[in-house]
Amino acid sequence: MKKFDIISIGGGSGGIATMNRAGEHGAKAAVIEGNLLGGTCVNIGCVPKKIMWYGANISEAIHHYGPEYGFTAENVTFDFATLRQNREAYIERSRNSYDGSFKRNGVELIEGYARFVDANTVEVNGELIQADHIVIATGARPSVPDIPGKELGIVSDDVFAWESLPASIAVMGAGYIAVEIAGVLHNLGVKTDLFVRKESPLRRFDPYIVEALVDEMEKTGLALHTHKVPSRVDKLDNGLLQITFEDGSTHQAEQVLWAIGRQPNIDQLNLEAAGVELTERGYIKVNEYQETSTPGIYALGDVTGHIELTPVAIKTGRLLSERLFNGKTTAKMDFNLVPTVVFSHPAIGTVGLTEPEAIRQYGENNINVYTSAFTSMYTALGSHRQMAKFKLITAGPDEKVIGLHGIGYGVDEMIQGFAVAMKMGATKEDFDATVAIHPTGSEEFVTMR
Ligand SMILES: Cc1cc2nc3c(=O)[nH]c(=O)nc-3n(C[C@H](O)[C@H](O)[C@H](O)COP(=O)(O)OP(=O)(O)OC[C@H]3O[C@@H](n4cnc5c(N)ncnc54)[C@H](O)[C@@H]3O)c2cc1C
Repeated sequence: MKKFDIISIGGGSGGIATMNRAGEHGAKAAVIEGNLLGGTCVNIGCVPKKIMWYGANISEAIHHYGPEYGFTAENVTFDFATLRQNREAYIERSRNSYDGSFKRNGVELIEGYARFVDANTVEVNGELIQADHIVIATGARPSVPDIPGKELGIVSDDVFAWESLPASIAVMGAGYIAVEIAGVLHNLGVKTDLFVRKESPLRRFDPYIVEALVDEMEKTGLALHTHKVPSRVDKLDNGLLQITFEDGSTHQAEQVLWAIGRQPNIDQLNLEAAGVELTERGYIKVNEYQETSTPGIYALGDVTGHIELTPVAIKTGRLLSERLFNGKTTAKMDFNLVPTVVFSHPAIGTVGLTEPEAIRQYGENNINVYTSAFTSMYTALGSHRQMAKFKLITAGPDEKVIGLHGIGYGVDEMIQGFAVAMKMGATKEDFDATVAIHPTGSEEFVTMR
């Protein structure tokens, strides 16, 4: 029987980072992966999505902004197959780079799906593997609504397998994945309709920023349909799919995309054999040190449902290995002030509390809110003007910055540094004491009054 100090079930963002760091500190470590190494982010998530977002931006530049800057681009064609081929080649190169890090850190790759036999043992392809520490980092997968015809729809994984683009798509969902894919496809020329259950998309984001996104969708013709709950999908004789909504209305499109949320990958793990408990929502229950209910078994990343982002899974895993193998006995993930970007058109960036959250947490009288709105200069020459909007929220008499939100051209590359400042406890006075970089959008954050 193979024996290790630590193994990870799942070779995605979290599993790979945890094992590499454990290996760096001399632990005998292995990654067990049943599918493509790299997991969701590299193969069917952040990376292919971002490449397609860049492609969509190029389309925007050619068709909207290029002519306004004096460029004539006649007979421009777009070959999706080329984008796809180059995207997949890039992803393969990224995947291959894991080999190098595994070799450097002495991490073994075991290919196959793992299931628990007992608290220290898993089985992969009929072989038993034992470890002192087992990390569950199996990620999550898209959820599909339980309605007639649900199988006619696709999920985000399928979008990244497309050989060609559909003529039209109905995107169901209000989260960032729905918004991003809808924006990308719309800009690549697919007739796109976005359907949300409630009054707006991205309801966990600051309303000021979401309003700006909704305005932009309206201006650019990305059709947003609110208060739409799908009740069935049918295939019509003309080949199109027809979605019927609970209010009796219908919509037809070539493809229907379910982007309504994600659920943890736990079904194949045989968790009962290891006594690992779940939360009420069906995620793996962990404490602040990523420890599950069974000693020696840990969980991290999307399977725990704690801020489902790649850098969160990576950092959590590295800190766990620092604690287990480098004597940093109190190392643990801090889930506060995690910055994030939505790759919408234009991009949204956010760190910390939204205004409604700040009011709930601090009380309306104890916060200050600063906003700024202007037409982004890149888009200001002609008729395709795009708004940029920024918001700062401060708390208490010392005006500590507790929320920072932006939407507009370049916001995606703008907020990482502000997140550092906020992590260090920056106040509005610190922001104001910083000289602006002109002319940029980010200068708004240090010039707001
Ligand atoms: C469309 C899309 C876009 C995204 N965009 C972004 C973004 O821009 N930025 C960002 O930060 N995050 C983004 N994410 C989220 C990000 O991909 C996840 O948060 C991240 O991948 C989580 O890492 P993980 O290690 O928890 O799980 P994963 O990366 O999902 O890895 C889990 C791995 O475990 C394997 N596995 C499952 N069960 C078993 C088993 N029993 N045995 C062996 N292996 C198993 C799976 O095959 C998988 O490879 C996006 C996600 C999606 C779907």
